[in-house]
Amino acid sequence: MDRSKHSLYASFSLGSSQVPVPPITMSKLYWSVTISRMTYGLECIDLEKKNLLYLENAHQTMAKKIQGLPVNCPNICAYAPLGWKSAECVLIQKSLLMLWQILLLPMTSIYKQLVIYRFLQHHHFPSIRPCGPVRLMISNAKQLALLDVIMASITSGTYMPITQWKSELCSKLSAYDRSRWLASCQLYPSLYLYRTIITDISIWPWWQYVSYAPHMLYKCKYLIRIIVSNKIIMSYNKSDKSCKLCGQYVNSDAAHVLFVCSSPRICHIRSHFWRIVERSKPHGLCRSMNAMAVTDRTQFILSGFRCKFVVEWADIYHSLCTFVYNIINVTSSSIN
Ligand SMILES: [Zn+2]
Repeated sequence: MDRSKHSLYASFSLGSSQVPVPPITMSKLYWSVTISRMTYGLECIDLEKKNLLYLENAHQTMAKKIQGLPVNCPNICAYAPLGWKSAECVLIQKSLLMLWQILLLPMTSIYKQLVIYRFLQHHHFPSIRPCGPVRLMISNAKQLALLDVIMASITSGTYMPITQWKSELCSKLSAYDRSRWLASCQLYPSLYLYRTIITDISIWPWWQYVSYAPHMLYKCKYLIRIIVSNKIIMSYNKSDKSCKLCGQYVNSDAAHVLFVCSSPRICHIRSHFWRIVERSKPHGLCRSMNAMAVTDRTQFILSGFRCKFVVEWADIYHSLCTFVYNIINVTSSSIN
């Protein structure tokens, strides 16, 4: 596991401070080299729960490192903005793909005969527990509700092509992973902003923007940190529940600091950088944002306009990222 991580750590040294490597590129390197190495041969091993957890933690820590997330934020929030699937899903996919490759072998293959025998044995005598990789395949197939499909293919002797099996597997795995991820996110009250902004496991539009403009990576990291940990805005006075900057008795969150806080320093920075946003193209987008309530506007900005990145909008992405970065910077320096 540690040797696999080294390949990713080596890729962190790529790029420079002016042009760093975007998270999407790091993600591609990770999936091409590190994850293949980390999970090599694991589809044949029935891992213990603690080892599976160790693997999952390593996978999520890598997602955090690539995006520059705080180490203390919940692990579960790490991989969705990159559009990754969980390590458990990677193992399930590998195991069931291996099963299909075996089933597509000619009937003379001893491996195929053994797998069919084990599946039929499990079907007719469920009390007999198979062991090894076949047990793993059966339990994975059960998890994805694919056992009936496999049994129907075994009894009829007709197997769908591997590409079709792979696409069916991918759609089942996506649904399984998404429901698991949504349920886990509900367990963390600190992720309330994250839950409203990251609603699906897909690449966050701001990371797509960074691929277009890598020099903005450092500033964009501030946006993802606000989403996963609202604590980056430490302007809330816990003792008397007032904003440390303006003294108002409000719930000091991202929306308050970005658009409401009446601290003179923040007001000055806000009006200066928001004027730049208003001059950015497309002008209609900024007019629509001005018409929104502050909470909706904040979520709309942090979500990357709730759609995929559009190159023609790069101008407004740039000015908004600079706006948020400067407000957060001045907030931190005013408090410290
Ligand atoms: Zn305030």
